[in-house]
Amino acid sequence: MSQVLQPETQPFDITSIRRHFPLLAKEIRGRPLVYLDNAASTQKPRQVIDAMSSFYEHEYANIHRGVYLLSQLATEAFEQVRRNVQHFINAKEAREIVFVRGTTEATNLVASTYARKFVGKGDEILISAMEHHSNIVPWQMICEEKDASLRVTPINDSGEIILEAFEKALSPRTRLVAITHVSNALGTVNPLAEIVQMAHQQHIPVLVDGAQAAPHLEVDVQALDCDFYAFSGHKLYGPTGIGVFYGKSGWLEAMPPYQSGGEMINSVSFERSEFKEIPHKFEAGTPDITGVIGLGAAIDFVRKVGLQNLVAHEQALLSYATREISKVPGVRIVGQAKQKASVLSFVVDGVHAHDVGTILDQEGIAIRAGHHCAQPLMERFGLSATARASLAMYNTRKEVDSLVDSLRKVAEIFG
Ligand code: PMP
Repeated sequence: MSQVLQPETQPFDITSIRRHFPLLAKEIRGRPLVYLDNAASTQKPRQVIDAMSSFYEHEYANIHRGVYLLSQLATEAFEQVRRNVQHFINAKEAREIVFVRGTTEATNLVASTYARKFVGKGDEILISAMEHHSNIVPWQMICEEKDASLRVTPINDSGEIILEAFEKALSPRTRLVAITHVSNALGTVNPLAEIVQMAHQQHIPVLVDGAQAAPHLEVDVQALDCDFYAFSGHKLYGPTGIGVFYGKSGWLEAMPPYQSGGEMINSVSFERSEFKEIPHKFEAGTPDITGVIGLGAAIDFVRKVGLQNLVAHEQALLSYATREISKVPGVRIVGQAKQKASVLSFVVDGVHAHDVGTILDQEGIAIRAGHHCAQPLMERFGLSATARASLAMYNTRKEVDSLVDSLRKVAEIFG
């Protein structure tokens, strides 16, 4: 049975939070693990691990087609998570929630369906200079196929969207704006409400890459008024292989199916097939049923901790880490936006990011080093790579102190 998360006695009790994550107790190279690669993927609480193994042990069956009770119960559990996700991001209807493998699959879905139908020769798709490769490459490919162009709106030296330039980049040929909510490489939180409003004034739909936002801030798709929103379960304390694609029902109904086969049809003959209503039209084949159950448990966990608690904790930790890291001689933070969430990218003078990562690993500290799947962004800053520490609800000041101590050693070794 899943362990129930007890209400915290204090607004946010980090010791009690950490106890829910078994892997955080691990030692690496004889030292306590300091896990600061949460933008890549988060660790999983016991509640998620238990919910998935309990589902396999006691409730598992294929869904939607079974006439027998076990299948009906599994279907109900699966569809309950759809409603859970709906409330988590405040979608108007559960049928606006489509389960996908992750953010990457969601952008590919929109490229293969919306863009294939609504983008034509000479049209434009507008992205920003801070996008992850998964919000660049699918658009490049569809633009090539359609003889359309990919336009890029610039960012300033702090790593913020330049709104005036964005507004100018919108044109009567723009068919879609695809933009990240939070940058995985800089931590910038984009002013989405304004961006959506500007795009909508010209009747252009907006897709939001929420991979780095859903785990770190409150997402309200109705308040944002975005047309599409995507995030990945594995960055939100859930399992790998499952993610969420939200689309306004009007768009989803207007779009052709993505993949095809079983589960997404009402009837098939050799002459023609009739597709199901949304969201099932977009969910061909047996889905990752247990992944969905795990995602539901992850969302329950985050809710129980309290998003406001989580945001307050992470924001305080980010300010502390920014202040302390800035004091280390030779270290420069990349990405100084006024609004940031959870990500600290930095370079150390004269030291390659990979060497920084390797030395920190000797101390049991896990950070990411590289281009963070955002090579054009690195180029914008004249860099090939940065080191990146990214925070989650379970990180502590003590862990930030360990990171800073180790960075001082790196600076000394190479100084
Ligand atoms: N967008 C952003 C901003 C990301 O950080 C990531 C993951 N690094 C993705 C998209 C892709 O997510 P996934 O690999 O889970 O599909």
